[in-house]
Amino acid sequence: MSRSVPVVAERRPTRQIDIGGVAVGGGAPVSVQSMTTTKTADVEGTLAQVYALAAAGADIVRCTCNEQEAAEGLADIVPRSPVPIVADIHFHHEMALAALEAGVSGLRLNPGNLRKEAEIKQVASEARDRGVPIRVGVNAGSLHPELYKRYGGATAEALVESARIEIAYLADVGFEDVKISVKASSVPLMIAAYRLASETFDHPLHLGVTEAGPPPAGLIKSSAGIGTLLAEGIGDTIRYSLTADPVEEARAGRQLLEYLGLRERRGLDLIACPSCGRAEIDVIGVAREVQQALETRKLPIQVAVMGCVVNGPGEAREADLGIAAGRHRGHLFIKGKIVRVVPEGEMVDALVFEAERIVAEGVEARLAAAEVGAEQEAEADRKALFEAKGSDANRSGEKVELIRKTVHNRE
Ligand code: SF4
Repeated sequence: MSRSVPVVAERRPTRQIDIGGVAVGGGAPVSVQSMTTTKTADVEGTLAQVYALAAAGADIVRCTCNEQEAAEGLADIVPRSPVPIVADIHFHHEMALAALEAGVSGLRLNPGNLRKEAEIKQVASEARDRGVPIRVGVNAGSLHPELYKRYGGATAEALVESARIEIAYLADVGFEDVKISVKASSVPLMIAAYRLASETFDHPLHLGVTEAGPPPAGLIKSSAGIGTLLAEGIGDTIRYSLTADPVEEARAGRQLLEYLGLRERRGLDLIACPSCGRAEIDVIGVAREVQQALETRKLPIQVAVMGCVVNGPGEAREADLGIAAGRHRGHLFIKGKIVRVVPEGEMVDALVFEAERIVAEGVEARLAAAEVGAEQEAEADRKALFEAKGSDANRSGEKVELIRKTVHNRE
């Protein structure tokens, strides 16, 4: 509901490919990907996870295709999936051919693990005839040993060279429907590799920090790497690789895009002050309560929880809706304007009620429905607190007086 803040850099132009109806690159919205953790042969279990991932924000889901049973599972999963399915292929090119037979919308080939030129070309020819795109998915950890040796390690140049060689094989059989990833578990390395890839190719880029680990470290690494590149205009589709329930990956990916203003907000954006000595409530506890209550309702709204009425409404004036605490009461505000003052015990319920009304009726209608006298009531609370606690919380005036005396005595 709030205006989204555009990223600084314009999106770098790339070609567009189509993955089962989801456009990637060429100005299409940046998409979110995730990967199932079930055995692909377990059709029902995998489909349940695919649905959960789609609900959490995944636009495309990848499943491993490592054995015949997995390929057979894909044949049942693909037609029942709510989002396009991509098959993840390492070592065995027959698995890529089998996945194509199963009807997948995309393939991911790891050039470090699937190395024979003839096999790669066979897969590419088959994919070309079926109009199925391929991701050239280079990973620092599984870089081709020859390149590792030539470059003295998994450098950005080595990762990009690996992609270039594979793309040349694909081009030899007239296959251009490609996107590229050059992932590393080191954030600085992956940033350098993607920057170089972006200068080298015009194919869409799939961003990720590989093996980022469990949250919170995995989330921080992924956000730092993917977020930096997206803010530079680099990247067309993203995946968080977390050691966690993949639903967390999809949710985080979606949230990152929303926070960067690259996708429409479809869920809650909760902002809350960090709390300080002025706080009149347990900000952490109330913020958690609000988050639980609003997240389950899936309201696309920005909500603020602020610990005091002296600074809260002003600092969070951009939020669609917020609450600030003071003198055992909650000041409910919409776009910084106080619309109601409620007892402290009713703060969370009042906030949830108002959030639902705003989503149903719009901000203007709810501003018009503000309670008469709420502003005055809130102002009286603010004044009383201001007087009780003082405006000079840091005792700056006192310090200035002391500084003056010190300087004066020296003269
Ligand atoms: S809103 Fe109030 S309680 Fe929260 S950090 Fe700011 S001054 Fe402190």
